[in-house]
Amino acid sequence: MPAAFRPDFDLIVVGAGHNALITAAYAAKAGLKVAVFERRHIVGGAVSTEELVPGYRFDYGGSAHILIRLTPVVQELELTRYGLHYLELDPMFHASGGETPWFMWRDAGRTADELDNLFPGQGAAYTRFLNDWTPFAESVAELFMSAPGPLEMGKMAVSSGKGGDAGARLRRILRPYGEVAKEYFSEERVRAPLNWMAAQSGPPPTDPISAPFLLWHSLYHKGGVARPKGGSGGLTRALARAIEAHGGQIFTSAPVKDILVTGGRAQGIRLESGELYTARAVVSGTHILTTAAALPDEYVPAAAREVRVGNGFGLILRLALSQQVKYRAEHEPAHFHKNSRVGLGLLIKNERQLMKGYGEYLAGEPTTDPPLIAMTFSAVDDSLAPPGGEVLWLWAQYYPYELASGNWETRTAEARENVLSAFEHYAPGTRENIVGELVQTPLWLEQNLGLHRGNVMHLEMTIDQMFAFRPWLEASQYRWPGVRGLYLTGASTHPGGGIMGASGRTAARVIISDLTRRGWK
Ligand SMILES: Cc1cc2nc3c(=O)[nH]c(=O)nc-3n(C[C@H](O)[C@H](O)[C@H](O)COP(=O)(O)OP(=O)(O)OC[C@H]3O[C@@H](n4cnc5c(N)ncnc54)[C@H](O)[C@@H]3O)c2cc1C
Repeated sequence: MPAAFRPDFDLIVVGAGHNALITAAYAAKAGLKVAVFERRHIVGGAVSTEELVPGYRFDYGGSAHILIRLTPVVQELELTRYGLHYLELDPMFHASGGETPWFMWRDAGRTADELDNLFPGQGAAYTRFLNDWTPFAESVAELFMSAPGPLEMGKMAVSSGKGGDAGARLRRILRPYGEVAKEYFSEERVRAPLNWMAAQSGPPPTDPISAPFLLWHSLYHKGGVARPKGGSGGLTRALARAIEAHGGQIFTSAPVKDILVTGGRAQGIRLESGELYTARAVVSGTHILTTAAALPDEYVPAAAREVRVGNGFGLILRLALSQQVKYRAEHEPAHFHKNSRVGLGLLIKNERQLMKGYGEYLAGEPTTDPPLIAMTFSAVDDSLAPPGGEVLWLWAQYYPYELASGNWETRTAEARENVLSAFEHYAPGTRENIVGELVQTPLWLEQNLGLHRGNVMHLEMTIDQMFAFRPWLEASQYRWPGVRGLYLTGASTHPGGGIMGASGRTAARVIISDLTRRGWK
């Protein structure tokens, strides 16, 4: 670089996932000259939506907006001004093994009352569970909102409740969530769906120190579950508009090949097309392995290559249907049909079904009879399907990226068939209404969304890679160690995967403090 370095931008943002866009939006709002470079033809990464079947809009990645609603991001960035409109889902979930469906309403009291009617005693257990763990859940949500310190786990335990036996609370936090669920709920038809929801972060119900994935359940009642009108991409489209309104620029179909470093300082980027852009600072919101691959070797410590990405996770079958889904159990409670299509369907026959799927996955095989999360958000958003039609998205676990036999080209049809059969246990005849579809295998997620080995959380969400250990200790403060002016955001950093934006906001805070005199306001 020439001695009088006059960069093109203050901040270059690599990747336009929701976290990176949030960083870019805060930075642009703070007066920095920002440019975002995204590999795909649209912004949003794993939070994006397109009309993939004529008349039907499919999300590419995350659909349930839960954690972001516990953050101030939407208000601070005034995203409703830029077109974001959240639709509340109430009921938030319906849980079913096929026979006795029950609902999780936004109102915890209503949920507990209905549970007690169906499974005597379980409503009281639900209330006790929420009462015991709400302070803990709230303290976790708070820790998610700032850069992690090395003592975070300890803080979490101390602030996990007032009074009572702190030792007993800590013991529970350290346990596998499947065991904690058993301590509270004697009825498997209540326990299995709660475990299935906890399993969405990745670890199975038997993993030690996984209990927090269950214990933060009360946050659902606090923040609710919502959908941007028009699909998940409504969030990232609004972010893009906010960035542009503050003078930022967004380049799509612009894959970054190299992050340029001179004398230990990030200076800009080179695109795959060869174009070169310079900046005072660079923040990367891609998968951490993508960031590492874009850097000169001498700036990539061993720890960056040693992150645990795992071996795949879920598979999703997205269907366009000519008719609404009709659940077999629709006649049981009279209101079931109307309400069952609103929230996320936690469809699980029993706890063994989840463990069997995990066992098959460990053996390198796609699960044959998966538990499902069924989503039919056309029930609340008429822009997703034509009149009378439906979008049905079926998320299933677990699916290895590396298979013990065959490959994803030869095994996708069988995996798709098993997901569909598993759903027809709940809603027979669904296949007759299919007019279009997309199967997203772990390989598809890697090739199309840049999610290495199909991990939707970027890195395994296990205790060795959470808080100050995400992505690794020296990089946990949103700065790449050894390269001045290179920052990190995204699911590879604290607090990890999911639609939350906390990483994007905290990274912005660090960058704005470094680059502006006014600092973070
Ligand atoms: C199928 C699926 C279902 C999910 N369901 C839910 C859910 O219901 N609720 C929930 O909370 N979470 C869900 N998740 C998880 C959640 O969506 C992700 O963890 C989260 O969106 C990750 O966001 P991010 O901004 O950190 O990164 P990403 O979305 O991974 O963004 C990274 C961006 O970088 C871009 N990029 C990569 N390489 C380059 C390059 N060389 N140059 C330029 N750009 C590049 C990518 O194209 C991408 O846009 C789901 C994810 C998937 C895939």
